Amino acid sequence: MKSELHYFMRKLHHTTGPVLYWNVLGMVCIGLMEGIGIYMLVPMLSLIGIFDMGSSGIHLPWLSNFLHQFSQHNQLMLVLFTFVLIVSGQAWMQRLQTMRNVRIQQQFIRTLRMEAYSAILMAKWSFFLQKRKSDFNHILTTELARVSQGTSILLQMAASLVFTAIQIGLAFWLSARLTALVLVCGLVLFFLLRTFVKRAKRIGDQTTEFSQAYYNGITEHFNGIKDIKSNMLEHSHIHWFDRMCRQIERNVVQFSQLNTGTQLIHRVSAAFIIAAFIYLSLRVMSVPPASLLLIILIFSRLWPRFTAIQSNLEYISSMLPAFRIVRELQVQTENSREISEGNAEEPQSAATSAYAVEPMDFKESIRCQDIYYRYEGNDSYSLFNVCASIPAKSMTAIVGKSGAGKSTFIDLIMGLMRPESGSIQIDGKPLTEERLLSWRSSIGYVSQDPFLFHTSIRENLRLVDPDASEEQMWRALQFSASALFVRRLPQGMDTIIGDRGLRLSGGERQRLVLARAMLRNPSVLVLDEATSALDSENEQYIHEALERLKGHVTIIVIAHRLSTIRTADRVIVLEEGRVIQEGGYQQLSADPVGTFSRLLNMQAGAAGQ
Ligand code: ADP
Repeated sequence: MKSELHYFMRKLHHTTGPVLYWNVLGMVCIGLMEGIGIYMLVPMLSLIGIFDMGSSGIHLPWLSNFLHQFSQHNQLMLVLFTFVLIVSGQAWMQRLQTMRNVRIQQQFIRTLRMEAYSAILMAKWSFFLQKRKSDFNHILTTELARVSQGTSILLQMAASLVFTAIQIGLAFWLSARLTALVLVCGLVLFFLLRTFVKRAKRIGDQTTEFSQAYYNGITEHFNGIKDIKSNMLEHSHIHWFDRMCRQIERNVVQFSQLNTGTQLIHRVSAAFIIAAFIYLSLRVMSVPPASLLLIILIFSRLWPRFTAIQSNLEYISSMLPAFRIVRELQVQTENSREISEGNAEEPQSAATSAYAVEPMDFKESIRCQDIYYRYEGNDSYSLFNVCASIPAKSMTAIVGKSGAGKSTFIDLIMGLMRPESGSIQIDGKPLTEERLLSWRSSIGYVSQDPFLFHTSIRENLRLVDPDASEEQMWRALQFSASALFVRRLPQGMDTIIGDRGLRLSGGERQRLVLARAMLRNPSVLVLDEATSALDSENEQYIHEALERLKGHVTIIVIAHRLSTIRTADRVIVLEEGRVIQEGGYQQLSADPVGTFSRLLNMQAGAAGQ
């Protein structure tokens, strides 16, 4: 756990550089000025003879010689003026230092955010298969904010420690015995209260656990809101939410209880200790009243510092789980980087360089040889000894029942996942890590569940090609049979779509995503059941367009509706993760005992009913 704190402190140092040392220097100055301003007032007043401090006053002959040049009145004015000057200077520097702290903290959190976000985005696909998306939301918002807050408290504590050290030094100079006594009392109290710091960590663990459950819960509920509404599950979800909120409330109250509890102990002990001091000084040691004043002064300045350090320790302890979870994510994303080369310190640069990759010049074929693939945590293979070949510039259809391994096969071909054994060769050369991005940038992909961002249609299209001209965009829309409906929209291509925008039908969304894929001018177009939501008229349009593409672009389609692949040059039939048939559409449909003709007959039967 300490190593995480150490890691983030090192990172802070790396991010901010020399400013951090300026900050410490600033703290030393402020601490000195604060100490001098307050502590020195009484001794200085005694020096000019306002009252007598006996042996515990300050003995600076040069200062008293200097002051005695002036009249009594001017001496007082000089001392008071110096006091105002020091305290005001200290307040001014304090402000500068606070501002510097804020800047350091914000710069640090920005770096952490950027690193975490780009590292997540640059992770390989299998990483996302094992993770809950809401965990990313949770870490990027709540936990990173806690890390930032924790770092700020760490900086505050560093300042507190510097102040305290300076004040202890000054107090020692004024009265070593009394200061030693205060220090011993402080250390004993810290020792007695150390279990509270451990308890704060346990409360912090719960904070992380609850906020994670909260995020996961609400994300899931809003994703499934239609099911909740249509099955009237509102009440059970509200009940869950209420329970969650109460847990979070209890957790915060618990921490406050602990924190205010130790503060109370500190304050009450301070009262006891000071009462004991005064009693001992007056009754046992017969210390003069001015020295007593000094004891009270030292005590009243030092003790709140101890209290603040105790409180800071509890806060930091409660935030350690956030440090841990952010660090864990970092380690996981580092281990799951899609491209291992590049500068590990700057994932952003790797992210931007990925965009600069030239698409691969794909000419001959994709060959899969003896591919085995198993999802993490699964005992059985999702793809088993798969050998297949997809010729360039032709249309290949992948068919099979649901769960046969079609999407897995496509994901492997796109290089989103690596086969456990076997190889994928593009134009006779293995698909290695170095070729991965250039291969993927030559692919246009339309998924089963097409995703559009909450922005205009134009912006959605321009995501793949920021320089696309109006003409190119309309051509892509025309190709995907969406030009007509886009023209009919109230703001045409400027209509906002996506989450909170205009609601499009599944088919319309699919057509737009197809237009977006085409805008990239891909040499391979992958359609993962992309025509499943289209009506037969639009499906016909798309098929005509695909026909036009044949001979220019390699088309790979996963199709449920076998009618959509009539024109495929090649069909690969998968069953339970194995290729059981491979050949031309006509050839396979002519084989009366083959699985493909069985599938065809089943669909024909279903359509006839
Ligand atoms: P299809 O696309 O033909 O419907 P998939 O490729 O999606 O089939 O799935 C093939 C097999 O792999 C199925 O048995 C499925 O349960 C399993 N599978 C798919 N995705 C995952 C995953 N993310 N984790 C574990 N198993 C998976």
